[in-house]
Amino acid sequence: MDELRELYQEVILDHGRRPRNFGRPDHASCEAHGSNPMCGDRLTVYLTLDDRGVIREAGFEGRGCAISMASASMMTEVLKGKTRGEAERLFRAFQDMVTGEDGSQDEAVDEETIERLQALAGVREFPVRVKCATLAWHTMNAAVEGRGDQDVTTEV
Ligand code: ZN
Repeated sequence: MDELRELYQEVILDHGRRPRNFGRPDHASCEAHGSNPMCGDRLTVYLTLDDRGVIREAGFEGRGCAISMASASMMTEVLKGKTRGEAERLFRAFQDMVTGEDGSQDEAVDEETIERLQALAGVREFPVRVKCATLAWHTMNAAVEGRGDQDVTTEV
């Protein structure tokens, strides 16, 4: 838990304790399962895309450490209203943020959205935790790309 103190612990603990959008949306159109064996985090991400490819609902279920649950919770909050393409760009921007590889992207991303995910930027100091933070995003990306039949793992 010492690691959390170094992070934005209040935001993360709040999302970890009371995850937003926990559960399967009524009309989920795609889903994917992901796991991070190093930590034991497991989750399923559900998305409802409309016929224009806009994410109308996002939800998740699963169990894991505070960081994995908080990251999934925060992700589902920012995905609503985003297109499939915007979600994929956010995924890459989020990965850059938590791995400290800022500036590698030249794609336009919604700065305000990235700002809302800043609480998790501190995990870059703890490489083992990066996989906890990115699990939901890898899983979401698989759901968006229709790879829901394969289990996503952040163990690379
Ligand atoms: Zn974890």
